[in-house]
This record gives sequence, C-alpha cells and structure tokens, in this order.
Amino acid sequence: MEEKGPARDPDVAHGSEERIADTLLREIRERRGAVGPPNGLQRLLALEDESAPALACGGERPREWFKHGDWRVYAPPVEGGVGTVVASFSGADGREAALFRDAVSGRVFPPFDLATAYDLYVSEGWVAETAQRKLSPWQLDAFYRLKRFVPRKVQLAARRSLARRQQQPEFPAWPLDRSVVRLLRLFAYCTLLAQGRREAGFRWFWPDGHRAALILTHDVEEEEGFRLALEVADLEEELGFRSSFNVGGWYPIDWGVVHELSTRGFEIGSHGLSHDRSLFGSRKAFETQLPALRDVIDRLGASGFRSPSTYRVFDWIGELPVDYDCSMPHSDPFEPQPGGCCTLWPFFVGKVVELPYTLPQDHTLFTLLGHRTAELWLEQATAIEEEFGLIHCLSHPDRGYLAEPRNRALYREFLTAMAERREVWKALPQEVAAWWRQRDVGEVQAGLGTVRIDEGADVVLEPPARSLTAGRESRL
Ligand SMILES: [Zn+2]
Repeated sequence: MEEKGPARDPDVAHGSEERIADTLLREIRERRGAVGPPNGLQRLLALEDESAPALACGGERPREWFKHGDWRVYAPPVEGGVGTVVASFSGADGREAALFRDAVSGRVFPPFDLATAYDLYVSEGWVAETAQRKLSPWQLDAFYRLKRFVPRKVQLAARRSLARRQQQPEFPAWPLDRSVVRLLRLFAYCTLLAQGRREAGFRWFWPDGHRAALILTHDVEEEEGFRLALEVADLEEELGFRSSFNVGGWYPIDWGVVHELSTRGFEIGSHGLSHDRSLFGSRKAFETQLPALRDVIDRLGASGFRSPSTYRVFDWIGELPVDYDCSMPHSDPFEPQPGGCCTLWPFFVGKVVELPYTLPQDHTLFTLLGHRTAELWLEQATAIEEEFGLIHCLSHPDRGYLAEPRNRALYREFLTAMAERREVWKALPQEVAAWWRQRDVGEVQAGLGTVRIDEGADVVLEPPARSLTAGRESRL
C-alpha cells in the first residue's frame, strides 16, 4: 500500500454490518480451538481482543510476488474474494490482484496470505527464489580459505570496489525497508474491518509508552578489542548508555575485562567459535559445533548471540542455546550473505527472540561507503522512531572500526543526539528480549496502544500515554 493506507471506505461502522461482524466473531471464537496458535502477525500486533477473525490463507499454493507502488510482497495468492475493490496489487505476470471488501458480510479479502507473507519476510524466505548478486557457497569457502593470506588493506580495497559496483537491490530497500510496517497496517485494516470496528487496543510495543527502543551491540573481533571495548564502554557510560559486547572464540578471552564490563552493567554475548561460515556451513557442522558453542556461552554467562559475519540459516537460529539472537539484518546488501528480514520489531524463531539490527553497520557506513557524518544513523533512528520500532546499532570496538578517532567521534555524535531522545527506551538487548517474550504472553502491563482506521482510511497507531513515574526500571 502507499503510506497513506487503503482507500476511503466510509461505511465501516454501519449497524447491520456490526451485527454480522458479531456473528462472525462468535463463530471464530467457537472455531478458535481449531485455528491453532496465533501467527506471527497476530503476535506482533497483539490485539487486546484476541478473537481476531482468521483471514483467508493461501495454504501450499506456489508463492509469487505482489507489487503495489514500491511495495513488494512475496506470498501465496488467495483467490475468491468478493465485494468492492479497496486496493489493487499486481501479481505474477502483471495480473491484477485486488483487496476486496464485502459490504454485506463486512469481510475483507486480501489477494495474498498475510500471515505467510510475514513469515516469508522475517525468514528471508524470498531469497531462494530471487535473483540477487551474492557469493556462492563455493566462493565463500574459497574467500575464507584465502582471507588469512590477504593483507587487510587489500581486502578492504576489494570490498570497497565491490560495494561501489554493487547496485542497490530493489528489495529489501536500503537503509530502511517498510515492508513489514505496511503489512502490519494492512493486517490491522483487514482485521478491524472484519470485526466491524474502527478502533482497537493492542499491547504496546514498548514499556511505559516509549515510542521506540534503542540497543547498542558490539562484536569484538580481536584480542586487542577487549582493551578498546573498555574505551567504548567509557564513552557510552559517560553519555548514559550501556551496551553488549559479543566475544569471539578465536582469541584468548580477557576475563578481567569481561568481569569489569559485567560489573559496570554491560552485557556479554557470544560472537561464535570461529569467524567464518562454518557454524552454518552444513547441518552436520552445526550439530558438531553446538556443544562447544553451548559451553562458551555458559562460561561467558551470555544470553545473546551474533553469528560471525551474520551468516545464518533461519530455522537453525531457533536451536541456538540463547535467549536471543541478533544476527539478522533489517536490510543489509553489504554482508557476504546479503538480505534482510524487513521488519523493525523483534520476532520469534522458535523459542529464540530475534533482535534484528536496523542501522547500517559502522564498517559499512564509515569504511565501505565513506560517510563522514553520523547523519544517516540519526535519520534512520528518527524514521524508526516514527514507526515505533527497534533502533539497533551494531558496531565494533576494534582497530579499523570505532578505535579510529574519526569513527569514535561519529559514534559519540550519534549517542549524544540519542541521549536527548526521551521517548526512546534505552535498554540492554537482554532486557528487550525479555520484554518481548513477556509482552508476547501478556505477562506485562504493556499499556494499551490504539490502532485506528481514521477518516481518510489510513491506519494509525498511537502509543499509550507515557507513565514517567510508574513502571519498569531499566538497568540503565
Ligand atoms: Zn565479527
């Protein structure tokens, strides 16, 4: 949909439709046992009234791309919609695929399966069927075999030239992709109409009515990074922040620094056993490495994990022995495994909470693309706050990253500006993961946000009033 949302539909709250919708709701409540657990979109929106009608699902039908303006959705089609056309997509081969609304029953018929579309976004399920420039597994293995023999300067020059040649893919949009924002709004629109109402309460995304959340995560790439991590920690502490440092298994761990960081309220996570793609290289390798990884994670007292070079196999993330993973990009065409989950909110992979990183990495921005200001980070943070999402900045304390005075100054500039944003919940990643888990099962008094279809048929999300005194204390 355009940002404005679906077209005007003035008869939403018509009396007879309300009665029909009530009947429909009753039927759905009765059927609910058979409907199964809530899908990912339902969990994200977390309506107060859980009896949201089940929307049509596309089952096992072949998936295809749907387009509406610059919005791309990959999903199985749903046919048989009736009523008036509310919005129009183009499906495979340019075929028109309409979102219908039946004024008699109040039901809405999207042209594709919304729940599956969400799953395919967050799991990057579209990748396998989309032509995108990336390195083949064979090239990746060769890259890692050779990398150790190539001077870092030469490696960098090669990556810079690749970044320049690399055309921005059409999808996911970079640096910000609003696919899931749009899908969530469409889902809310369809659900409210099917329930015959214009407004509903939902468990707000963040505690105490904050408009957005901010987390800072770092991967420590070398042994010297421990000393440099303390410098980054000093800077963050001075400006009122705490962060997490993901420690690798390919250099000796400085337990003194680990202890000091923990004592000062920072978090220690795991960055894997070796900095290559071996963990996710094959199922066998994954199963072989898992016990040693579990051991390292235990010893570090880590609740979070970031995969080396953000390699990932979606389904296996759910088997990691952690509370949360933070390997998935929101949108990152610059990593060896490019792609993105297209969402600005955490989500679940099995029992593991995924906290996608939503800002371009420090190395991408400052080294590959040569930015000399923190402007893009700040603009992105503003845009995410406007959508009520998770602002997640991934950077490195090491040489070539934040250890360079110029990059450190830009990071300071970013933090100084973010410190002023009182509406943003500044938290540790483990706090955000715990929050997301509790919100999912309704264990927290999240405060109710409002989702509303306004006069112009736009879907509007509104945070609850801020409770500045009561509520949850962050460790920050
Ligand atoms: Zn790394």
